[in-house]
Amino acid sequence: MEERIDFQSLKTNGVKINYLYVCERKLWLFDRGIQMESRSDKVLMGKLLGEHSYPKEKTREVLIDDLINIDIVGDDEIREVKYSNRLPDADRIQLLYYLYYLKQLGIEKRGVINYPKMRKREEIVLTSEAENEVINALRRVKEIVNLDKPPAIQSRSYCKKCSYYEFCYV
Ligand code: SF4
Repeated sequence: MEERIDFQSLKTNGVKINYLYVCERKLWLFDRGIQMESRSDKVLMGKLLGEHSYPKEKTREVLIDDLINIDIVGDDEIREVKYSNRLPDADRIQLLYYLYYLKQLGIEKRGVINYPKMRKREEIVLTSEAENEVINALRRVKEIVNLDKPPAIQSRSYCKKCSYYEFCYV
């Protein structure tokens, strides 16, 4: 069953929801304004892919509350374009969050994640189970960003590709 929450006090930006599923320490560092990602070639590549991979489709980019930036495709679809499919759970929860956010505004859509480099496309549907997952994620984001100190380093294969690698390990 769908849970009722105080969405206004829990809402956050899409990147933070994504980072929750990548690494809680990364989420905390990002929330504190330590942003090293913008210099990354991969992010630049992601932006280029996002801007040029689907030139024939009509999209509208919508920024809501300065928190989420969504590509609206057609009447009933929203889309995220991702450079890599290395972190599919993080991609999925981010798009589910966008769908959930829109639903709070009375707009119901389905989601699509495009991985142009892999020529892959994943459909995302906001089921009631997925809604509960989003709510739990929002609560967890709040818990993490309210911590006084960053969560401990969680050594994982992803670390070497993380923009905070030097911050954590050097
Ligand atoms: S380097 Fe590893 S531990 Fe540090 S923020 Fe990135 S993923 Fe997390």
